[in-house]
Formats: sequence, structure tokens, C-alpha cells
Amino acid sequence: MEIHVQPRTRTKMFCGCAVGQLGDPPNSNVCEVCMGLPGVLPVINKAAVEACLKTALALSCEIPIHTKFDRKNYMYPDLPKGYQISQYDLPMSVNGRLEMDGRQVRIRRVHLEEDTGKLIHAGDKLHKAWESFVDLNRAGVPLMEIVSEPDIRSADEARDYAQALRTLLRTIGASEAEMEKGQLRCEPNISIRRYGSDDLGVKTELKNINSFRALHRAIEFEVKRQVQVVESGGSVVQETRGWSESEQRTFSQRSKEFAEDYRYFPEPDLPPLELDRSWIEDLRRSLPELPASRRARLVAGLFEAAAKASGDSKRTANWVVGEVAPTGKHPSPAHLAEVVTLVGTGRITRDQGREVLAESMSDGRSPSEIVARRGLAQVSDPSAVRAVVEAVIAANPKAVQDYRSGKVQVLGFLVAQVVKQSPQVDRALANELMKELLGAG
Ligand code: ZN
Ligand code: MN
Repeated sequence: MEIHVQPRTRTKMFCGCAVGQLGDPPNSNVCEVCMGLPGVLPVINKAAVEACLKTALALSCEIPIHTKFDRKNYMYPDLPKGYQISQYDLPMSVNGRLEMDGRQVRIRRVHLEEDTGKLIHAGDKLHKAWESFVDLNRAGVPLMEIVSEPDIRSADEARDYAQALRTLLRTIGASEAEMEKGQLRCEPNISIRRYGSDDLGVKTELKNINSFRALHRAIEFEVKRQVQVVESGGSVVQETRGWSESEQRTFSQRSKEFAEDYRYFPEPDLPPLELDRSWIEDLRRSLPELPASRRARLVAGLFEAAAKASGDSKRTANWVVGEVAPTGKHPSPAHLAEVVTLVGTGRITRDQGREVLAESMSDGRSPSEIVARRGLAQVSDPSAVRAVVEAVIAANPKAVQDYRSGKVQVLGFLVAQVVKQSPQVDRALANELMKELLGAG
């Protein structure tokens, strides 16, 4: 996944123009530098470097002392200089990771670059346009490019990753990361592979994604498309594909360019950047508590309080690790303790416990109240349980025979049959009655 994020700065990457806002009059935040006029020199924006370093630190990246900017050359009307100042072989940071619930995605690099201008075509499609306009307000706006390793396996995971990244960026104040304002743009690179194979197939890159929902849909569509291509005997072509929100599909935009096409070379108008270690350490110390560690702390606190309230730390740990932590949500310790006890004493099943916990988190009512109101409590009337036990005994003469001839482990099987017939049954009572009736025979 490649994500471009606009760091929170007042001014552009290499000039003093305001970064401005959506809706500013066209070409109102521009100067000689960001319009690419000859005879002017860029100056690095320290606030952008700082935001990028904070992001890199929050992502546990390594930060080399030496970094530099490079020219990425290509011709397009929204790029007035004919090149984008970016970072090629010495990015500001490398080798990090984003911690999410229970898993992590490795980060390959986080580097700084500048945004391009915007083309507005009269008529909704480029090839039908009779006129095109250029707005350079965005040209030169700082961007951090955050590139992950191929550790994401589904549309769900991609959305989780992008959302976790947004939360992190907001927590550390590096960016407002509003997708609708173009401050966070996701470009997923999609490839498929044969089941059991480690080799990733040829990838396509998706653009024009404007929301987390669109991100999810675009990936799902593209995965299906690639599977269809391969299954019908074709092969996936490396290319950039756009997401069409109106048609809910991806379409080919251009064949993928390779690094050599850009003729990268060091930006001669900027000195290499040598970062001061003590500045980096100051930035590290200034970071607030990060979402992953906050989550770990909350989970630990939840466990402690709920274990105390339920008096059963083993079952509570089981619930915290197995049911609560993966959801990323935080029930009140008292409610969790109640559910642990309700399930632990056999009043409700584990599945019911999960539902009850979710319900109590959404409406704040106590689990026992929900159990009572929904009539979830299990069947513990001895005569009702006895009837089911008798029916199971009658239906399983072979198992009963085995039990009576000394194979006591068959008891578990017979009780399981009772639970199967009556899922709400009080297991302990069923067990007791089963033993009693088998012994009586
Ligand atoms: Zn400017
Ligand atoms: Mn980029």
C-alpha cells in the first residue's frame, strides 16, 4: 500500500505559499517557485521535515542521518517544473511497522515530496473535453509518502491499515489526514497468487480512491478481476488503474512506468539533508502515547479490573484475549466480569455471552439485565433436563452399553448429544442427571 499524506504545515514544501484550503480561488496560493518559473530556488520546509520525522518515529522506522531530495522527471501539464522533487535512494526513513490489533504491517519507507497541481477538464472526460484548466494551488504542497511491505491480505485488512494509520497521524498531530480533503490518499497495489505459492503475481496500482469505502470496494473488485483474467487463461498486466465511483469498477489508465523512466537524479538546487540526532531524540520524546501502546495499556487495565470483579482471572484472561481485544472495543470491567461469570457458571453459553457483551456495549445495559429481558438463561429445570437426558439415553443404546461396561469417557459424548438437542441446557445439571440415570439402569 502506498499512502500519500499531507503533513500539517502552514506553508508549502519548498516556498512560502500557504497550503490553502479546498475551495480557494484557483491559482491564488502560488509563487515563482511552485509555478516552476526559471531563476528561483527551493527551500526545505522544516515543519514538513518535522512532521515526517514524527511519523517515521511513530512507525518505529530507522532514520538515517543522511537524506537527500531527488528529481523525478516526467511531463504533465499539472507539473509546471517538468519534475517532482521527491526522495529516491536515500529516503528520510526506512524499515518501520504499524502495530494494529494483534498484527503488524511492515513499513518500507516514509519520505517527503511535493504534490502536483490539478487539471480541470470542461466536460467530465478528458478525451471529450473542449478546454482544460490548470490550478496550481496544490503544486508544491508537502506530502509524506508512506509505503508498506506486501503484508496486507484482504480488502478488510487494507481498510484497517489505512484507518489505523489515520488514527496514528492524528494522535501525533502530523496530519489532519482527512480523506475527503485529499490529505490522505490511498493507492493500493494489488496482486494475486496461486493457493500455496509464495510468489506474488504481477501487480496493478489503483488510483482515484476517495474514501475508506471506496478503498474496500476497489480492492474487492480488482481482486475478482485479476482472478477472472488468470482463470480465463490470460495474464495480469502491470498498469495503473483508476477507480470509477460511478461505475464501481477499475479501468486501465496507463501502463506502469518503471523507476528508470523517471531519470531520477539528486536535486541540484537543494543540499543533502543532515539530520541532527539530538533533534530526532527531542521529537521522539515529544510524541504522545501511541494508539497501540494505549490499547495495550487499556486491555491490561480492563483485565485487571474485570478479573478482580469476577474473581476468576483465568476465564477473564480468556475473554479479554479471545473476545475483547480483537474487536478493539472496551466494555466496562464490571460488565465484562458479569459475562465471564454468567458463562463460567453455565447460565448462558459462550456464544450468547459474546452477543450479550456486544449488546451491553452498544446500549449500556448490564449483561444480567439483557439475559433476563431476552430470556436467554439456560434450561435448568430438572424435569425438563431429565426429559432430554432420557431421550438421549433411549436413542443411543450402544453408547449406554459402553458406559455401563466401564467406558466412562462415553459420558462426554452423551452429554454433548443433550446439548445438541437443547443448546440452552444447563451443562452441569445435564451431566449430573446423565450419570444418575445411567447408573440407575
Ligand atoms: Zn509557492
Ligand atoms: Mn509519491
